[in-house]
Amino acid sequence: MAKFYITTPIYYVNDKPHIGHTYTTTMADIFARWHRLLGDDVFFLTGTDEHGEKVQKAAEKQGLGPEEFVDAMAAQFMERWKGFGITNDVFMRTTDPQHERTVKDFIKKIYDAGDIYKGEYEGWYCTPDETFVTELQLKDGKCPYCGREVRKVKEESYFFRLGKYQQMLLDLYDRNPDFLSPRFRAMETINRVKEGLNDLSITRKSVKWGIEFEQDKGNVLYVWLDALINYLSALKWPDGTFEDFWPADVHVVGKDIAWFHAVIWPALLMSAGIEPPKKVFSHGWWTIEGRKMGKSLGNAVDPVDITRKYGVDALRYYFVREMPFGEDGDFSEGKLIARINGELVDDLGNLVYRSLTLAERFGGNITGTPELDRGLDIENIKGLMQKLDTFNAIEAIWEQVRRTNRYINEKQAWKLSGEQLGNVIYNLLESIRVISILLSPFMPETSEKIRVQLGVEKQGLNHCGFGEFRGKVSKQGHLFEKFSREKHSENP
Ligand SMILES: [Zn+2]
Repeated sequence: MAKFYITTPIYYVNDKPHIGHTYTTTMADIFARWHRLLGDDVFFLTGTDEHGEKVQKAAEKQGLGPEEFVDAMAAQFMERWKGFGITNDVFMRTTDPQHERTVKDFIKKIYDAGDIYKGEYEGWYCTPDETFVTELQLKDGKCPYCGREVRKVKEESYFFRLGKYQQMLLDLYDRNPDFLSPRFRAMETINRVKEGLNDLSITRKSVKWGIEFEQDKGNVLYVWLDALINYLSALKWPDGTFEDFWPADVHVVGKDIAWFHAVIWPALLMSAGIEPPKKVFSHGWWTIEGRKMGKSLGNAVDPVDITRKYGVDALRYYFVREMPFGEDGDFSEGKLIARINGELVDDLGNLVYRSLTLAERFGGNITGTPELDRGLDIENIKGLMQKLDTFNAIEAIWEQVRRTNRYINEKQAWKLSGEQLGNVIYNLLESIRVISILLSPFMPETSEKIRVQLGVEKQGLNHCGFGEFRGKVSKQGHLFEKFSREKHSENP
């Protein structure tokens, strides 16, 4: 049996789950579900990043201890994913004792390898935020969080010999061109690595909320280092299920954190003698109604509001349909409504409704010769999903939806009877059955509703050929309802 290990980044708990987190997690969920459908042994990981100065400060602001604060925030993420039907196998928290153990073992390994040394950290510090800012994070020389002046500080720190791994990283990118995906974003990283790598400061003396650096107590590990190791702690490295699932097949990350995953993480793994992941996929960002997303802009979209109005599946569909995975896209409620009305109601909902109506009225034998399977290339869709090309995969599935709708008209099904009608209905129901299997990773609830109305068993991707139709049809109303622009703007 093939295995498939997919991860989201662990989300930093100083913020509530927003549309960005929801997007990343939904996309990873789609791939996890797809691989389960293939029959693979899947391990899907998400979680929360709970250490560091910013969390400590956020807790203080609310008059809470850090433990209390992170418990409450992590619970929000867990509840959210549950409500959205996310099928992660583990939810890893960096305050989990298992994680702490793994981190300490991992650090010991790279320390023993001679890749950690004591030095002096020189960097930027934002006094109002009381936060260290790296050279790379600076925005026009100012603090990236608040935009205020930063000052230069010096602090004793331990360093990881990142520079030592420059050539090995370049060799990795060379040997494995798929490691950095999508390709159009890979050159940026490769060029930066070619320019040279500074060693990485991995401890802080002034931060208290974190995992202790055991080799010199009183120092705390840099939050990013701690966070990356969650991909191993979830497998209980070096034992547990590490051998079963490592290397990770895909780390799904936002493009803003590609550097940590594509450069620092594989270098750390090389130092520890662990194989790097197979792929780091950095996806793009959403603008909201054509504008950059941000709390300060007042245009933050609450995914809970959206799904309450339109349903989880409609949002999942929009995520996949609107933006090729890897590129940037725009989230707009108007465009979401247009897709619901035009594609989910008129194409898919209508198809299922019309076909089941014909099937229920028909008293004869639902049997015939496969015709509608021509044009439907399952191997092509599998290949697209292997490349994480959800955009073209959903289009290929939708082409089958449209083809099946056209078939009803071409055959003038309403004029037929007897064997001829039985043959048309057979083709419609088999096509819908296959569509419901193919759609299940993308729109699990909708797929399930179709399956129940067809009265067929749950099936995997190996059942996408047309066979005998074995269901017992029971129509249960429309899959989707139409929305109007006005109706949505009246809502609170
Ligand atoms: Zn600041």
